Amino acid sequence: MNFVRVALDVPLPTLFDYSATAVTADDVGRRVLVPFGKKIAVGIIMEVTSSTALAPQRVRRVLSVQRDVAPLPADILKLLRFCGDYYHHPLGEAVLNALPTRLRRRQLLKLDTDKAYRLTAAGRDIDPATLPPRAKIKRELLGLLSAASDSLDEARLCAIAPRARAALKVMADLGWIEQCVRAPGSQSAAIPETCVASGPELTDEQRATVESVRNAGSGFAPWLLLGVTGSGKTEVYLRLIADILARGRQALLLVPEINLTPQLEAQVRTRFPGTTIASLHSGLNESERLHGWLAAQSGAAGVVLGTRLAIFTPLPNLGLIIVDEEHDASFKQMDGLRYSARDLALMRAKERAIPILLGSATPALETFHKAATGSYRTLLLTHPVNAMPADIEYVDTRQAPLIDGLSQELLKAINATLKRGEQSMVFINRRGYAPVLICRSCNWTADCHRCSAKLVLHAEGRSLRCHHCGHQEAIPAACPQCGNHDLLPLGQGTQRIESALARTFPAARILRVDRDSTRRKHAWQDMRRQIHAQEIDILVGTQILAKGHDFPQLNLVGVINADSSLYSTDFRASERLFARLTQVAGRAGRGATRGRVLIQTEFPQHPLYQALRRHDYPAYAQELLAERKQAGFPPFVYQAVLRAEASQIAAALDFLARAAQLAAEFDNAVTIYDPVPANLTRLAGLERAQLTVQAHSRAALQKFLRAWRERLDASGERKVRWALDVDPLEL
Ligand code: ADP
Ligand code: ZN
Ligand code: ZN
Repeated sequence: MNFVRVALDVPLPTLFDYSATAVTADDVGRRVLVPFGKKIAVGIIMEVTSSTALAPQRVRRVLSVQRDVAPLPADILKLLRFCGDYYHHPLGEAVLNALPTRLRRRQLLKLDTDKAYRLTAAGRDIDPATLPPRAKIKRELLGLLSAASDSLDEARLCAIAPRARAALKVMADLGWIEQCVRAPGSQSAAIPETCVASGPELTDEQRATVESVRNAGSGFAPWLLLGVTGSGKTEVYLRLIADILARGRQALLLVPEINLTPQLEAQVRTRFPGTTIASLHSGLNESERLHGWLAAQSGAAGVVLGTRLAIFTPLPNLGLIIVDEEHDASFKQMDGLRYSARDLALMRAKERAIPILLGSATPALETFHKAATGSYRTLLLTHPVNAMPADIEYVDTRQAPLIDGLSQELLKAINATLKRGEQSMVFINRRGYAPVLICRSCNWTADCHRCSAKLVLHAEGRSLRCHHCGHQEAIPAACPQCGNHDLLPLGQGTQRIESALARTFPAARILRVDRDSTRRKHAWQDMRRQIHAQEIDILVGTQILAKGHDFPQLNLVGVINADSSLYSTDFRASERLFARLTQVAGRAGRGATRGRVLIQTEFPQHPLYQALRRHDYPAYAQELLAERKQAGFPPFVYQAVLRAEASQIAAALDFLARAAQLAAEFDNAVTIYDPVPANLTRLAGLERAQLTVQAHSRAALQKFLRAWRERLDASGERKVRWALDVDPLEL
C-alpha cells in the first residue's frame, strides 16, 4: 500500500495524506480526486510515500488518479513549493491556482471532442479583402485562421460574433475550411521546422545587444535591457527568440497587461509563421487557456506569450525568458498568492540554467540597483530607432490660468496640431467626469458608504460611482445635508476633459479611451483601428493609452494632473510617475516629425521633471537610490506587510498589536513598525490595517516570517482575516 500527499485548494498550510494502490513516483504532479469532508475535491499529488503519520482508521482512499494529461513537471512543483514558502501562502492554493480552470474540475478532459477548424488550400487562396463588406464575420474568420499557425478551436472562432457559428458552417460547405480534431496534449513534442520571416536590419546598438546575449551562451545569465522608448526592444526579443527556436527550445515572453498582447502577439506570429504560439492571459476563455497551456506543456508551443500567471506554465524545453516592461506593477499579484512574476522568472531561469532578459525604459529601482552593482549585466539602447526623442516642455500652472483643467498653451498646441492634420493626445490619470461632488453651502461631499473614498461623478447615466467597490447611485437633486441645490463637481476626469475639448474644438473628432469606454469586448481593438485609420484627431485617456502603442500620426501629448504623485507618502510614487510619463511621452512623434510633450505642473523645477526633460532615467534613478539608501527603504532593506481586515478597525489594529507583540518576543533582527490603518481604510464595508516589518537581508526576513507565521497560525484568530505580503509594492 502506498500513500500520496496531496495539495488541495484550501486555506491550510498543509498537504493531505490519502492511501492509493497502483501509484508510483511517476504520478507525482498528477491530478487526483479525493474525498474531502463530505465533498469530492481535485488535488495534485505532491509526493508518493510508503508511510503516513495519520492513524490508519483516519486514512481515506484516493478515488481516482487522472491520467488524461501529463503530470505537472518537477520544476513547476518546485517553483510552487518555493512560492508557498517564500510568500507564506497555503501551498495547496498556490498549486491549484497555477492550473487552468478546466483542470481544476472533476471531469476528465475529453480532448478529442474539442472541435477545431483550419483553412483548406482553397481557403488559403482567398484574399479576405475581396469579400463584400457585409461578409464581415467571414473576413474576420479567414483572417484569424490564416494568422493561426495550425487550427483554431471552434470556441475561439465562435467567440468573435454571435453569428460566427453559422458563418463557419457556410465556409465549410464552400470548402474554404475543414473541421479537424485538436488535441495539443498529444501533439508531437518536437517543435516543427522553424520558419522565420525576415525582420528589419538591426541598428548598431541592437546588433551589439543581440551579440552580447548570444556570446554569453546558454547558461543562467540575468540581463537588464535598458532601452529608451522606441529603441526597438521588441526587435531584440524577436532575434533572441529566433535563436532559441532554431535550437528546438521554447521561449517564455511575459508582458504586463492584456491590452498590450494583441499587437505583440501579431508581431510574434508574423515573425514565426511556422511556430505554435501559445498566448496565455486573462482575456481568454477556459478552453483557449487550456489549449495554450497544453501546447506549452507538451512542448508543441515554441513561444508562450503571457501575463503574470504564465510564469507557472510547464515548459519542457524552456531556453529563454523575457520580461517586457519589467518595472510594471501588474507583475505583482496584489491578493491571494501575492507573488511577483518577475522575481519568479529570475528564480525559474536560474533553476533551469537559462538566460533571462528584463526589458524596460525605466527599470524598477530594485532591478536598476542589481544592474548597477553588477548582479545583472546591462544592455543599452540609447536612441529611438525611427524618431528623435520627444521634446518635453512644462506649462507652469501657477502662472497660466486653467479653464476646465486645460491651459491656453496646451489648447494652442492642440489647435496647431489639428491644423496640420495630425493627432494629439491628452493624458489624465483619472476616469469619470469629476472626482468630487461638493455642496457649495455646507461643504458636504458625496462619499461611498462602503469605502473611505469619494464617489466619482460620471456623466454617462448621470451617476456617482465608487472606483474601489463599484457602488453606484444617482446624483442627488439637492444636498442631502442642507438641501442646497448648488452641487459642484470639483476637479477633472477624462469625461470632463473630453467635453471641454469638444466645446473648444467642435469640428474635431475626439475619442475617449479609459476603462469605461473600453469595457466592451474588442472595444479597444476597434478604437486602435480608428486611430490608425486617422479617423480621430484628439485622444483623451488614462494610462491605457500610455502603453506601447505605436500611433504614427500622434505628435502632441498633453499631460494634466501629474503633480498629485510628486509629494505622495508612497516612497515608490516618483519612480512610478517617471515610468508613466516616459511611457506617455513615448507616444509622441513616432513618425517622421519630432513629438512634443506639454506637461502642466506647478513644479516645473522639480528634479523629476528636469531629468524627464533630459530623458535621463539613469541619473534620476541614481538620485532616488541615494534617497532610498539614506531613508532605509528597499532595495536596501527587505519588507513584508501583515495585512488585516475586519468589520471594525479596532479589531484589525488590535490583532496587529498582538502580532507585533508576538514578534518582539522572539526576534530582534527585524524592525517592526506600528500597526496603522491602510491608506484606503474602508473597502467594500471592511476596515483594513497593516503592519510593516523590515530586515537587512532576505534570509533574515524569511527566517523571521516563518516563525511569526507559525505563531499567527496557532493563534487561531477568527474575527480578523489576515495575510502576509512579501516584497510589497504598496504600503
Ligand atoms: P520599444 O519597445 O523599445 O519602445 P519598439 O520595439 O516598439 O520600441 O520599436 C519602435 C519602432 O521601431 C517600431 O515601430 C519598430 O518596428 C521599429 N524598429 C525596431 N527596430 C528596427 C530596426 N532595426 N529598423 C527599423 N525599424 C525598427
Ligand atoms: Zn449642503
Ligand atoms: Zn466603495
